Amino acid sequence: MKLQTMLIHAGDVQPRFAGAVTLPIFQSSTFEYEGQRKYEDVKYIRLNNTPNHVAVGKVLAAIEGAEAAVVTGSGMAAISSTLLALLKAGDHLLAQQGLYGGSHTFITDHLPDLGVSFDFINAAEPESWRAKLKSNTKAVLVETISNPLLQVLDHRRMVDFARAHGLVSIIDNTLASPINFRPPAFGYDLSVHSCTKYLNGHSDIVAGAVIGKAELVERVNRKAVHLGGCLDPHACFLLERGIKTLALRVRQHNENGQKMAEVLESHPKVARVIYPGLPSHPDHAIARELLDGFGGLLSFELKGAASAQRLIEHLRIPVHAPSLGGVESLITLPARTSHAGLDPQERRRLGISDGLIRLAIGIEAAEDLIEDMAQALGFA
Ligand SMILES: *Cc1c(COP(=O)(O)O)cnc(C)c1O
Repeated sequence: MKLQTMLIHAGDVQPRFAGAVTLPIFQSSTFEYEGQRKYEDVKYIRLNNTPNHVAVGKVLAAIEGAEAAVVTGSGMAAISSTLLALLKAGDHLLAQQGLYGGSHTFITDHLPDLGVSFDFINAAEPESWRAKLKSNTKAVLVETISNPLLQVLDHRRMVDFARAHGLVSIIDNTLASPINFRPPAFGYDLSVHSCTKYLNGHSDIVAGAVIGKAELVERVNRKAVHLGGCLDPHACFLLERGIKTLALRVRQHNENGQKMAEVLESHPKVARVIYPGLPSHPDHAIARELLDGFGGLLSFELKGAASAQRLIEHLRIPVHAPSLGGVESLITLPARTSHAGLDPQERRRLGISDGLIRLAIGIEAAEDLIEDMAQALGFA
């Protein structure tokens, strides 16, 4: 089956419950014994194994081309459970510089308490990765497309590097979604997602997923069920419903992102636009080779006296709010939101200026978004 068909049918349960075309919500914390012997086989919401969990997990594994998948209570539950399942005291982790703020802070603030050490690697300089390896390095965590600078590393090279040194390779595939990138095809062992974003797509739930090799997914789930970051069945249902339109939505995010990036790049008040679909992006060539689309996230800076704050105040369509991946356009200043927790010097070193604007473009009509941007830039 093609991806678009799997989005809609991979979670189908036969026979259908009472003939219902859509899987109902099993809002039951516990289920009658059916002779299970092992704790993990008992059906209970926290064990991530009710019919709603199983169905959405099947869809996620199918669309990424992976052996298995489990959903979690948030993207951070997926990431923290994965790292805690794979690393123990005395181990060392390599992670990409400029990771999502929550992942970055989890690594720097919490892993050392557990005796796990780490080093950050510069994704743009593969020759430098080896020097960061230690004899106790066990895993590497990267992102398909970083945020807000939209860096795309050479993922084939990363997987080769991980394999050559016996590291478990973990990729946060949130920004690309399985429509634009499928990690197992490139050899990644595990992918993690914030399903809060494109997978659900409607800014109305928080959810996460861990997808990949069955043995590793099971290991992560054993940790996740004890940390307690499970997903509620109602959220499983909403997530599965959102996923059905993923291909249509992401196609529109990709188109709108490209159009807006091109318009902004030629605007006299705009100093620079960061979007992997633009030839001016340093990773454009690798992004074109590895991704099926450049996504809906773009960042830009205004020239001299123009004010990002004034621009945001005059926009009528995009909402000034954090997050991304929903049907509606959202706009933020990363220095004040996603990366506010980093110290200003570190932020500048990563290339995130105080005036950097991040637009998470929605699936509204590109013409309306572009017209709105043009009028707001007039006031900036
Ligand atoms: C939002 C996000 C997360 C965290 O997800 P939550 O669902 O908010 O816990 C992790 N990684 C990336 C890339 C994200 O954008």
